[in-house]
Amino acid sequence: MPTLNCIIPQSLEIALDNYIESIGQSVSAVVTRALAQFLSLPLHTLFQVSTSGALVRGVYQRAVSVAVLKQHGDFGLGTFDDLDGEMVVLEGKVYQAKADGTVDEVPDSVGAPFAVVTRFAADARGVIPRAENLSQLAAQCDVYRESDNLFFAFRIDGRFDHIHTRVMPATDRPLAQAAAVQPEFRFRQVDGILVGIWSPAFSRAFSVPGYHFHFLSSDRTKSGHVLDCSGRNLEMQMETLTEFHISLPESEEFLKADLSKDPSAELSSAEGIHK
Ligand code: ZN
Repeated sequence: MPTLNCIIPQSLEIALDNYIESIGQSVSAVVTRALAQFLSLPLHTLFQVSTSGALVRGVYQRAVSVAVLKQHGDFGLGTFDDLDGEMVVLEGKVYQAKADGTVDEVPDSVGAPFAVVTRFAADARGVIPRAENLSQLAAQCDVYRESDNLFFAFRIDGRFDHIHTRVMPATDRPLAQAAAVQPEFRFRQVDGILVGIWSPAFSRAFSVPGYHFHFLSSDRTKSGHVLDCSGRNLEMQMETLTEFHISLPESEEFLKADLSKDPSAELSSAEGIHK
């Protein structure tokens, strides 16, 4: 991480020293927090638009634009209006994988009914020597998570021996029905990135508990919601997310939806393999 050298008035230095002594944190931690607040760049925050329960109930219309999503994060996943494909947010760009197998970077004007994004800043790194399938990959990611009660973002780079994805086609039918017909894609020996979020079990009423990975190939031509994968010597970066912000849609569709039921069973069957 970069080092900041700057000149500050003595009065501020005294106040900073006193503060650091009283709370027992480093200068770096305090200055980082203060700058993030001043510059409106929240740290370790997961920003979610709408709820998984609303998706299950068929609330597929725009809750935010891609432009707004970009203000809240440079890394994440989601879907688009009418469930038209899978969203991957990587390095500040938003990509749409469509059911016809194409992948495109989308303009800021495009809308999303559901998404989770963060400003990715890894606080742990490691190598996954070998994973024969998604369960093995997840188990090796588990080693780095220090709790089952926080959210985590995972970025996994490397050559994948195989990747099996699916892409939701645009629909106006309920999620369970729509999910029954979704094109699947299999790629072999492909360089790319898994963009993942791990959410705790207690978030099942509004999020997708467990691991949720979307894939994007390095050449940005292959993508989708990950059903399975395998690979060796994969580079893993993880960020612990201790803040959670949820932005609820104000559309009539959302306001009138019956969201009183637990969506987790319908969601996990619609989403495919989730560990
Ligand atoms: Zn997905």
